[in-house]
Amino acid sequence: MYENQKSRQAICNFRTNNTRIPKVTGRYKGLERSERMCNICDSNCVGDEYHVLFECKNVNVMHYRKKYLPKYYVYSPSKIKLILLLRSNNPGVIAKTGAFLRNVLPLFK
Ligand SMILES: [Zn+2]
Repeated sequence: MYENQKSRQAICNFRTNNTRIPKVTGRYKGLERSERMCNICDSNCVGDEYHVLFECKNVNVMHYRKKYLPKYYVYSPSKIKLILLLRSNNPGVIAKTGAFLRNVLPLFK
């Protein structure tokens, strides 16, 4: 698969709950959404998409966030920016977001 396809696939999986992040796995365990805490950092936050992209304090996540995610989205993030990032048609943004997700999502087991 081409890098571009892999990036699009990673973003698509992330958008459609096809991941192992706590927000998703907690549902299978019957946990309330508010109880689906991130299991790779100690922030005691719900491990949802917003947390993974913008808030998670796991050192590896922070490293890949800094390496890949465009600064515009990372500095003063918001729900709107989350949506804009995941819906972007900009090939550069897609490649970077995809690279971030492909490195970070495997951390959630
Ligand atoms: Zn976290």
